[in-house]
Amino acid sequence: MKSVPDYFGSMVFDDRVMKACLSAKEYNSLKKTIDEGAKLDIGVANAVADAMKDWAVAHGATHYTHWFQPLTGITAEKHDSFISPSPDGGVIMEFSGKELIKGEPDASSFPSGGLRATFEARGYTAWDPTSYAFIKGKTLCIPTAFCSYGGEALDKKTPLLRSMEALNKQVLRILRLFGNDSVKCVRTSVGPEQEYFLITKEMYDLRPDLRFTGRTLFGARPPKGQEMDDHYFGVVKPRVAAYMEELNKELWKLGILAKTEHNEVAPAQHELAPIYTTTNIATDHNQLTMEIMQKVAAKHGLVCLLHEKPFAGVNGSGKHNNWSIATDTGVNLLSPGETPYENAQFLLFLCAVIKAVDDYQDLLRIAVATAGNDHRLGANEAPPAVVSIFLGDELNAVLEAIETDTPYAGTEKTQMKLGVDVLPKFNRDTTDRNRTSPFAFTGNKFEFRMLGSSNSIACANIMLNSAVAESLKIYADRLENADDFETALHAMIRKTIRDHKRIIFNGNGYDEAWIKEATEKRGLCNYRTTPDCMPHLLDKKNVDMLTSHGVYSEAELKSRCEIMLENYCKTVLIEANTMVDMAKTQIAPAVSAYAKEIAETISVKKSSDSSLACIYENSLLKKLSSLTDRIAGKTENLEEALVSLHIVEDTTAEAEAIRDNILVRMGELRLACDEAETVTAKKYWPFPSYGDLLFSVR
Ligand code: ADP
Ligand code: MG
Repeated sequence: MKSVPDYFGSMVFDDRVMKACLSAKEYNSLKKTIDEGAKLDIGVANAVADAMKDWAVAHGATHYTHWFQPLTGITAEKHDSFISPSPDGGVIMEFSGKELIKGEPDASSFPSGGLRATFEARGYTAWDPTSYAFIKGKTLCIPTAFCSYGGEALDKKTPLLRSMEALNKQVLRILRLFGNDSVKCVRTSVGPEQEYFLITKEMYDLRPDLRFTGRTLFGARPPKGQEMDDHYFGVVKPRVAAYMEELNKELWKLGILAKTEHNEVAPAQHELAPIYTTTNIATDHNQLTMEIMQKVAAKHGLVCLLHEKPFAGVNGSGKHNNWSIATDTGVNLLSPGETPYENAQFLLFLCAVIKAVDDYQDLLRIAVATAGNDHRLGANEAPPAVVSIFLGDELNAVLEAIETDTPYAGTEKTQMKLGVDVLPKFNRDTTDRNRTSPFAFTGNKFEFRMLGSSNSIACANIMLNSAVAESLKIYADRLENADDFETALHAMIRKTIRDHKRIIFNGNGYDEAWIKEATEKRGLCNYRTTPDCMPHLLDKKNVDMLTSHGVYSEAELKSRCEIMLENYCKTVLIEANTMVDMAKTQIAPAVSAYAKEIAETISVKKSSDSSLACIYENSLLKKLSSLTDRIAGKTENLEEALVSLHIVEDTTAEAEAIRDNILVRMGELRLACDEAETVTAKKYWPFPSYGDLLFSVR
């Protein structure tokens, strides 16, 4: 068997392959495009395309596709074969630079939120040379951005690349002010930790709710859930281990740095974390990871659930977005430095993040808003819908000392003076104790923990990069015009701490008292649901910021708001319809059939001895009858609410109506059905129970 280094990246047209297949001149030109964004000349593009095709064909590929990330949140591909007819009646395999650089898929069915009228069906895809092409199955996949003919972004990659560029620009201004002229570009890095559930295919197939919506819409609590905490970091079961082994192998072949795997808190829940990499690549890789997780599961007779809340009553699944900023010279700007000057620079970047998170709490919340994630955020589960930052005691004490001009206990000097004093070394272990914070500093990076497990990480990083770029822009504008750099720097850091310390919270983020303090005393946002937060995407301050950095146009923001709300509505409506269907065609008939059996038992017993009281059967029959009536009534309620939705016109109003009228009625119907599950004989219950599902994989 081949060793990992032998096959790692074997399906990727990476630097090793480029070097081997291209002439030195072509390779250098391509590198310049990749590293510095230089324009690629068509001659080089042709050479790259040809090399890519030869390499792909040698690896069994017959087709190519521009691989992109439309606003559906998943990836899209349309395959074209390499074949081209030759005069002798045969074919040759061909792929041109033009085909590599630009594609024109028929895009009329992708959501555009009104950006692209459907008669203007064609959008175009444009090659992102910074993310390597790879082979999936028999297809060469070329990572691309997806835009309309008017140039508006119809995908998640385009604004992500724009936000990285915006941040790059502002960071460079700051670095120049600190006398650093050698850095040519900075990029953000991300390591997304991915949570998921595994259940057996047999169980999954029996649950229409899982098949149609990705989550269970019914299900009484099992006798055993996660209360024993015996799953977290527990021994991985053989079937899961075999799954993880094959998953790693498939990911490694695609050059994805899958690193850590373990069991999570809930039964049947697991986590996979890769080694961090450049944000747009990490985003591509995370999309691929989610896809491959599901594919490999199918091969093992399993289903991988990526929904944020597949089961009520046990932990949901999230994604932790570990984020840092690094220079092309290999320096992590969120790492406290060795010298006083570096420390001052570190503190400035730290403050930029603090200010960004406080000023744009709403954008961070919006970036993770989906119907699925609403079940985690704001629902007494980690983390809350309130955004706050955890810094740890040590760093907090440093900031306090700066703010109040008081001596910091960690130094021997009498006063912290930026640019003179060396900051204490932060111990990673002491900064990373808090697991309940939505946004935690963990020694040399920030960990944003509000993302849902099925979210693309693009949106969160777009908002984060843009908001931090904005803080840095304000800083750079001031510092570039300051008479005395150090005095201005010190004053600005102090002002940031004063103005934005309300966002810093080092306590327990799950505590009810915190939510009260955050909203009532500190004035932080608490948007519990998607319809609550999404319209704020179009608040003037947000539109101004995002457009001024060229990350989104106003039209693009409007379209995104529309699409996200539409998505919310559609998701909940599919869930509601699935519930109605299951209640009517499966649950009510099952409970009724069981009631019939009990009624027959009573009649058999009575006919043998009419004096028998049949206390058990009679009371059960009564209960079952009242439950079937309740289920029928609640189903009808829900159906009526669904019908009355047709009169709502605007998407925001529709989303609100769905949240207030539909979700509540879904909850009531569920309650009645779950109660019925606890009194109905198992042989009558039409689908597997929570216990069956959660403990199905051995
Ligand atoms: P945990 O959060 O479970 O304690 P780590 O903090 O070591 O584990 O890493 C979690 C994730 O953070 C991994 O994907 C890792 O690659 C990523 N990570 C580590 N350092 C950085 C960094 N400087 N920038 C971005 N991500 C990072
Ligand atoms: Mg972590």
